[in-house]
Amino acid sequence: MVEWAERLKKLPAYLFAELDEKKAKKIAEGVDVIDMGVGDPDLPTPTPIVEAMKKAVEKPEHHRYPTYNGMKAFREAVARWYKRRFNVELDPEKEVVALIGSKEGIAHLPFAFVEEKDVVLVPDPGYPVYHSATVLAGGQPYHVPLREELGFLPDLESVSKDVLERTKILFINYPNNPTAGMATKEAFSKIVELAKEYNFIVAHDAAYSEIYYEEPPISILEIPGAKDVAIEFHSLSKTFNMTGWRIGMAVGNPEILKGLLKVKTNIDSGVFQAVQEAAIFALDNEPELDRIRATYKRRIDIFVEGLRKAGIDVKPPKATFYIWFKVPKGYTSMEFANLALDKAGVLLTPGIGFGVYGEGYARAALCMPDERVEEAANRIASL
Ligand SMILES: *Cc1c(COP(=O)(O)O)cnc(C)c1O
Repeated sequence: MVEWAERLKKLPAYLFAELDEKKAKKIAEGVDVIDMGVGDPDLPTPTPIVEAMKKAVEKPEHHRYPTYNGMKAFREAVARWYKRRFNVELDPEKEVVALIGSKEGIAHLPFAFVEEKDVVLVPDPGYPVYHSATVLAGGQPYHVPLREELGFLPDLESVSKDVLERTKILFINYPNNPTAGMATKEAFSKIVELAKEYNFIVAHDAAYSEIYYEEPPISILEIPGAKDVAIEFHSLSKTFNMTGWRIGMAVGNPEILKGLLKVKTNIDSGVFQAVQEAAIFALDNEPELDRIRATYKRRIDIFVEGLRKAGIDVKPPKATFYIWFKVPKGYTSMEFANLALDKAGVLLTPGIGFGVYGEGYARAALCMPDERVEEAANRIASL
């Protein structure tokens, strides 16, 4: 067979192969497996957004290649939403780019800015794309620990001056997947200062900004001067149960966005305009968003109560639909995930899958009906 390129060989091994195999085996044995592994909303996209899509898909002008950076009307809708939600001004011409889901933009960013010797700081535990995109682009990922005692904010003081001097991009993600950690203005301000001092890009992934249950999470662009160094990724995926539709956006520093767009122009051809039209409707009207939040909140309360009954101490997250909890003493995260699947038929993601600093934890994604969440909690409690 033709050999893989070095860059592909360098990507981390797929840690969940063993769990996936075991899950398939359990299902084949007739076990009713509850899969809490995937963070993919089970609820349908709100009907009014689907209706907007139906109308849009019939328009022949949407059947042609879209513009690379997104329709003007979409970029304007993003700017309106940013103003209303964060009180941040964006120029829809230069400071907004449509993405085929935020993952696409995140994965392409390092290709625009990272050379072989360059470092990209990635949160650990973290969404795996920051690391793999860096490797594919030929850069060097450096894992910054997110420690519980620091509120899962990046421990940048642990990063040496030498590493900071070679840093091109810092990826951060709040509300955080997998820890559900929240950012603060102070933390964001410090990060912006550091980025200016060492001249690197701050790429903030805000995919969960609307899935909150207390104070609305902040945008990094609310920090004065942030736009000099930062871009922010957003997505309609989690907010409106639109993971399959593939639409998101990058906003912020126009020079950084120009680099990202140049990469994109050479690789993809933009977002289906009918999807953009439906997204405009979604951003302007936010249909069913309160109900979506209430649904996750209910599931969180059910699951947290269940885990507590099992003697597992866990705080309800302030945002996201993930429960990040310490596995019982005596187990590694992988051992506990294996036990939960074997003995309880519940699939959890072991923390180690998100990086070495995720060891000792497991993540449960609450993307299933209340009864299933309750059943999963009961089964874990009886372990
Ligand atoms: C789900 C997720 C995304 C990607 O969402 P898209 O569907 O590509 O917009 C990005 N970042 C994090 C942290 C996620 O969990």
